[in-house]
Amino acid sequence: MENTIFQIGPIRPPSEANSLLLRVTENCPWNQCKFCMLYKSQKFHTRTVEDIKKDIDAMAMYRDSIKKYHNNGTFDIASIQREFNHLSTQKEQECYYMVFHWMTEGNSQAIFLQDANTLVLKTQWLTEIISYVREKLPEIKRITSYGRADTLSKISQEQFFQLKEAGLDRIHSGFETGSDAVLQLIGKGTTQKQQIEGGKKVKKAGIELSIYFMPGAGGKAYSHENAIETANVINAINPDFVRLRTFVVKTGSLMEELVKQGKFTECSDMEKLLEIKTMLEHIKHCNGFLASDHIINLLQNVNGYLDKDLDNMLDYINTFLALPRKMQRKYQIARRMGFAGDWTMLDRLDMQHQYAIEQYENTVPDGIAFETLLNQYMDYYI
Ligand code: SF4
Repeated sequence: MENTIFQIGPIRPPSEANSLLLRVTENCPWNQCKFCMLYKSQKFHTRTVEDIKKDIDAMAMYRDSIKKYHNNGTFDIASIQREFNHLSTQKEQECYYMVFHWMTEGNSQAIFLQDANTLVLKTQWLTEIISYVREKLPEIKRITSYGRADTLSKISQEQFFQLKEAGLDRIHSGFETGSDAVLQLIGKGTTQKQQIEGGKKVKKAGIELSIYFMPGAGGKAYSHENAIETANVINAINPDFVRLRTFVVKTGSLMEELVKQGKFTECSDMEKLLEIKTMLEHIKHCNGFLASDHIINLLQNVNGYLDKDLDNMLDYINTFLALPRKMQRKYQIARRMGFAGDWTMLDRLDMQHQYAIEQYENTVPDGIAFETLLNQYMDYYI
């Protein structure tokens, strides 16, 4: 009997929000990062190639089903809705909706292989899965996945060439920091050496590399080192993308325990921004793209190529740093409340937010109370 459902994992990078999601493994094989609470109660499993192929078949089946309502560049939404309503289970409806969204509003040329570290799968299995995606979903032009630095370092150059040949286009890797001391502190279970070895092999194979940097991950004690060592790793690899994920101590996380034990002092919001500035000041001979593609980052518009846009990004940060403190505070509160623009757009805030910000401005002094207020909002984002 035809398979009518496929698994959908919990997360994907923001840049894959519109991609089709194919769950190749379940949860995280490491699961010990102290800042991460995502899979803590879940055990890691690999899925069989046979089961994953059935999921791909189900995706292709829904794709064909929806495609028959596509004429002259438009979808017959009423017929699609009728078909959706006739599906017998909620799970089938979720799968149908995901494929529909992917075909109509998403990036119908991209698929992301979930969950946290798909590259841990045997290369032979992964190439078979990727080839099957290419065969059954030929409209796919981009296949991407997560891979931890230690896993990447253990994969041979030849295996990366095979993955590229099969059709793997991009690997996202949460490096978080280039500092060994900070990697140890946050329980990442990887080293700078592994990052550089793994990253270079990925690039050499012609696979795009997208790494994540967490300003503030080392707390006040390692703030400078976090910035400098991360710049050193970026300089050594020249990744295609560097994505900023400002660090915040999440309530209930193992990092919070470190704070309580006096072993971690969180940087202020502005100190985390200074880390981004320091990191950028130490970038040399790179041409990848730096993306501030998450609401958790204070300045959303620090985006650009690490060669031609480097000076502009630094100027942009410096402009904010030179603002009167009152203005900075106002923007910080707005941003942490979810404001999507930068400080030049604060006049677009609605009355309710204006009022709330004014209350905070007048009652919360700079220092611990102010940082606690900001962190309370940031706690929701991750
Ligand atoms: S490797 Fe990723 S998913 Fe796994 S514990 Fe660390 S941050 Fe979480």
